[in-house]
Amino acid sequence: MASGEMGSGGATTGVRGGGRGGAVPDADWDRAVELISSAGEVALACHVSPDGDALGSMLAAGAALRAAGKRVAASFGDRRFAVPRLLGFLPGQDLLVEPSGYPEAPELMITFDASTLDRLGTLAGNAGRARELIVVDHHPSNPGFGTLNLIDPAAASTTALVERLLHRLGLPIDEAIATCLYVGLVTDTGSFRHSSTTPAAHEMAARLVAAGVDTEEIARRLWDSSPVGYLRVLGTVLGRVRLEPEVGGGLAWTFVTRADRASYGLPYEEVEGIIDVVRRAEGAEVAVVLKEDDDGAWQVSTRSRGGVDVARVCSALGGGGHARAAGFTSRLPVEETMAGLRALL
Ligand code: AMP
Ligand code: MN
Ligand code: MN
Repeated sequence: MASGEMGSGGATTGVRGGGRGGAVPDADWDRAVELISSAGEVALACHVSPDGDALGSMLAAGAALRAAGKRVAASFGDRRFAVPRLLGFLPGQDLLVEPSGYPEAPELMITFDASTLDRLGTLAGNAGRARELIVVDHHPSNPGFGTLNLIDPAAASTTALVERLLHRLGLPIDEAIATCLYVGLVTDTGSFRHSSTTPAAHEMAARLVAAGVDTEEIARRLWDSSPVGYLRVLGTVLGRVRLEPEVGGGLAWTFVTRADRASYGLPYEEVEGIIDVVRRAEGAEVAVVLKEDDDGAWQVSTRSRGGVDVARVCSALGGGGHARAAGFTSRLPVEETMAGLRALL
C-alpha cells in the first residue's frame, strides 16, 4: 500500500472514516501511513486487563494489517496473559502472542487505548525499545508517549481512530474487523448512552452495521449472559453498597474481594461490570467499586455523573482515565483507600 493511498475497499457505505479529521493533524496521519506502509512487521499492544475498546482496536488493526501482507504480533502485558471470557468471541485472536514471545525491540510498535506507558504493563519496555512507536488513543490525559501520536480526546472510542487509520491506509473493513471496531464503540459509549455518543459515533455505528455487524449477538455476549455465580456475587456486593450523601455531592461505593469471587470460581474480569449497576444509585454523584485482583491489589473503578472530574481524582491517586470514568490501583486496605478518595472528593 502506498503512502496516502485511498484503496477502493474501505467501509462498505458512502460515509467514510469518521467524518471530520478530529484533533489529529493530517501530517500525522500521513506519517502513520508512511511508517506502516514501509514496515515489514508491526507489533501491536493494548492496555493491560484489556476491555472491549483496547482489544477491539488492536485486533481490528491487526486483522487489517495482516490482510495487507504485514507480519503482525499483538499482545498485552498482563502477568497472567488471558483474554477476558466476555471478549472471547472477538475475531482475529490467532494474532495474539504471549508477552514472552513478543518482539523485544520492534521496528514499529503501535499501542491502542493505553493512556500512559505504564498501562502497557510488561510490554512497556518493548515500547521503550521500539524504533518507532505510534500511540493510538482517545484519553485526554494521554501525554503523547509515542514517537508519533494519533490522539483525539473527542473520539468516542479508540476503535473510532482505528477506523480512520484503516481508511487512511486504504484497507477494507470486513465483517470481522467491523465487529472488533463496533465492540470498542458500543462498550466505551456505554451502549450509546454516555455523552461521548456524538453524531460521529452513531455514523460510525451505521457504517459498521452496514458492514455486517450482528448487534444483537454482540449485546448478548457482552451483557446478557453470565455464570450464575456472578449473580450471587453481585447480590453480596450490592448488599454492601454504602451511600454517603455528604461526600462529593453523594458517593455510592462497594467492594468485591478475592474471597467473594473464589467461592464461585469467578475470574476477576467477571466483576468489572458491577460499577455499571452501582452507578445507578440515586443521590450519588460519584460511584466507586473496589475490586481485589488475584495479586491482592485493589483495582478501583470510579464513575461520575458529570459534576466531578474523576480523572483528576484518580490521577492524583496514581491512575487516570476520563472525566466521567476513571480508575486507579491501590495496595492499601479498603477503608484507607476510601479515606484517600473521600479527601479528594
Ligand atoms: P474501569 O473502571 O476499569 O472501566 O476504567 C475506567 C477508565 O479508567 C478506563 O478507561 C481507564 O482509562 C482508566 N483506568 C482504570 N484503571 C486505571 C489505572 N489503574 N491506571 C490508569 N487508568 C486507569
Ligand atoms: Mn480501555
Ligand atoms: Mn477506550
